[in-house]
Amino acid sequence: MSNEMKALVKAAPEQGLWLQMVPVPEPGPNEVLIKVRKSAICGTDVHIWNWDEWSAKTVPVPMVVGHEFCGQIVDCGPGAQKYKIGTRVSAEGHVVCGTCRNCRAGRGQLCRNTEGIGVNRPGSFAEYVCLPEHNVVPIPDDIPDEIAALFDPLGNAVHTALSFDLVGEDVLVTGAGPIGIMGALVAQKVGARKVVITDINPYRLQLAKQMGVQYVVDVSKTSLRDVMGDIGMSEGFDVGLEMSGAAPAMRQMIERMNNGGKLALLGIAPTEFAVDWNTVIFNMLEIKGIYGREMFETWYKMIALVQSGLDISGLITHRISIEDYRDGFAAMTSGQSGKVVMDWGD
Ligand code: NAD
Ligand code: ZN
Repeated sequence: MSNEMKALVKAAPEQGLWLQMVPVPEPGPNEVLIKVRKSAICGTDVHIWNWDEWSAKTVPVPMVVGHEFCGQIVDCGPGAQKYKIGTRVSAEGHVVCGTCRNCRAGRGQLCRNTEGIGVNRPGSFAEYVCLPEHNVVPIPDDIPDEIAALFDPLGNAVHTALSFDLVGEDVLVTGAGPIGIMGALVAQKVGARKVVITDINPYRLQLAKQMGVQYVVDVSKTSLRDVMGDIGMSEGFDVGLEMSGAAPAMRQMIERMNNGGKLALLGIAPTEFAVDWNTVIFNMLEIKGIYGREMFETWYKMIALVQSGLDISGLITHRISIEDYRDGFAAMTSGQSGKVVMDWGD
């Protein structure tokens, strides 16, 4: 193995990412080195590409970015004994402290000191990535690399969707981005009665339809309230999964919930915004913020869901080589894409 590797680097505090040669990381105590086979592009990577306000204050430069991936363990650092070299893995990209109250209680997703690969520690848009063995998740043989490369966002969707009991419930998903579509499919699979997804982007709405989401609504053209009547909903939604980060979507969700409805919020808004809190109060809505995936119950559940037939392969609209990463980011920026998967070759 050469001691240099290709990686997509935020090399300067400005727009863009650069494919560069950088040193291969060395696994420290209890860490493993993973050879990356497939990488997927996340909205966060696009923010980092654009070098918006959030990235400029969060990401130190230079930084190898990326966090959605699948690969294979090729080396184990001192003391790392849980997995064998050759094991095919994906990994939880949030590295937690292990010492705060929540970590000690087994609630790593609530760690106060979490670090993200590809954000504040070197990421997986690289031929090799180094991670604590604690973060590694072995991938069963019946799950392809490109699907395992989507486990980070699928985990967001599964964590959000499984926050509340969905059996027999009417579910509103706002935002038909990749995560919204996956959230809607999970809701359908676990037994929701009606699942309605909204968006304002025709490409995304079409993708949701193609993927088999029950009711797809373009809220820029159609009244959600009318749709509810048409499909036999006389009260309101029981559960809302907010997956757009758009203020109008959040307001609409609050308006259309049944009394006592439950909201799980994943979408990240670019700025703060106002909502009608009195509706939240008078209608006795329950609101839960979601960040990341539960460690590691979400990983267990999503693997089980995929093995029991949850099919997300249709979400991959672009399969490209890492050399063509610029095209991948252009597709993501255009809004005319589902997931973009990049291959690292052999
Ligand atoms: P995305 O940007 O691809 O999808 C968001 C969708 O919302 C887009 O298709 C957009 O057209 C749609 N939208 C815009 N206005 C709308 C409106 N008024 N009503 C309905 N839909 C509307 O994002 P994604 O990758 O699918 O991720 C979903 C959201 O989750 C994003 O906000 C992302 O930043 C956030 N996110 C949060 C976490 C977390 O841990 N909390 C993790 C990953 C992503
Ligand atoms: Zn912690």
